[in-house]
Amino acid sequence: MGCALAAFLAEDGASVRLYERDELAAGASGRNSGLLQHPMDEALAEVYTASEALYRELGHGFDPPAEPVGVLVVSEDPASLEPVRVDLAARFPALRAEALDPATLHAAEPALAEGLSAFVLDTGLPVPPAAATRAFAARARAAGAQLLEGTAAAPVRANGRVTGVRTTAGELPAGAVVVAAGPWTSALVDPTGAWRPIAPLWGVNVEVQLAQPPRHAVEEGGIQDLQHADDALDLLFSLVTREGSSALGSTFLAERPEPGEVAPALLQRGLRFVPGLAGTHVVSVRSCARPMSVDGRPLLGPLPGVEGLFVAAGHGPWGISLGPGSARLVAGAVLGRPGPIAPELAAARFGPLA
Ligand SMILES: Cc1cc2nc3c(=O)[nH]c(=O)nc-3n(C[C@H](O)[C@H](O)[C@H](O)COP(=O)(O)OP(=O)(O)OC[C@H]3O[C@@H](n4cnc5c(N)ncnc54)[C@H](O)[C@@H]3O)c2cc1C
Repeated sequence: MGCALAAFLAEDGASVRLYERDELAAGASGRNSGLLQHPMDEALAEVYTASEALYRELGHGFDPPAEPVGVLVVSEDPASLEPVRVDLAARFPALRAEALDPATLHAAEPALAEGLSAFVLDTGLPVPPAAATRAFAARARAAGAQLLEGTAAAPVRANGRVTGVRTTAGELPAGAVVVAAGPWTSALVDPTGAWRPIAPLWGVNVEVQLAQPPRHAVEEGGIQDLQHADDALDLLFSLVTREGSSALGSTFLAERPEPGEVAPALLQRGLRFVPGLAGTHVVSVRSCARPMSVDGRPLLGPLPGVEGLFVAAGHGPWGISLGPGSARLVAGAVLGRPGPIAPELAAARFGPLA
């Protein structure tokens, strides 16, 4: 979010400094599963369409596949899957949610275990996990933005407006501040703890190299029900492959896990869906936190109560898919353009800051 915003704002003539306390892509934006996919929520569909178009023209080394690979939603329980498919088919005809009988499924995806039920969605562009962040960072630099890594920052406000940011080097003035700090956004916006619409939901991914990876992105049914951090799903199987490397996911945990301790459970669950995971070479294990908002939708735009303070966070499991479209909306708001941030996505919906 931060890098896309820095790019759009700098290209529109703003003088931009981006502060990253760690290194670029240190958070979920560098450690996700790497799938641009439709978020299966009417309120987010337009932002997704806008994001896909912005990704197509991003450049700077970002190279999504020309066509979706398709998302296979799989389950061991046919009775639970079909109502989900019927619901998605009615709500999002463009996804062409199509049930696959066992023979068609096996022909389409021989890497899957026998006896699974599945439907396919016409979406899913696999990309390397940090690719979008790195490309937007390069674009932001090319447009003149300063990207300061290893520098934590916090907004400073006085008399009802933001005056700048505070870092270890002191206070620096700014006309506007956007907090795009993922799951850490709430604490930065309101250190008193009264405003807490965003919380972390930790995920672990195991990077594997499969001899015969699935051609589709594969997800266990259930992600579409993930609305907020309290929906403790614990673990859902997913597998996204790009250029011979597959991200096996993932957990949904309120507390930060020890990645190495969680990896065996992910591999064990994955085996039920993709037998080829047996004895596969584990390249790495990584964890990161989804910025989950209390209603499952991002918080975008100005925060009433503090003039000049903006938020771009809370994208939960869909931040890579929605980042550019959201950033474009927030950049417009920062620059004072009358922008169409829908009320259900506006940061203001959680009330003014005290
Ligand atoms: C396991 C997993 C898999 C996922 N897979 C996908 C996927 O396939 N497709 C998809 O669309 N989404 C996916 N997501 C969700 C997506 O990764 C996130 O929604 C998105 O990366 C959030 O981006 P962000 O910029 O808001 O936050 P982050 O990526 O968390 O970035 C916030 C940054 O702020 C920095 N920061 C924090 N505090 C400060 C401070 N005080 N000063 C300066 N910097 C600070 C952090 O270091 C961090 O780099 C996945 C998430 C997880 C956990």
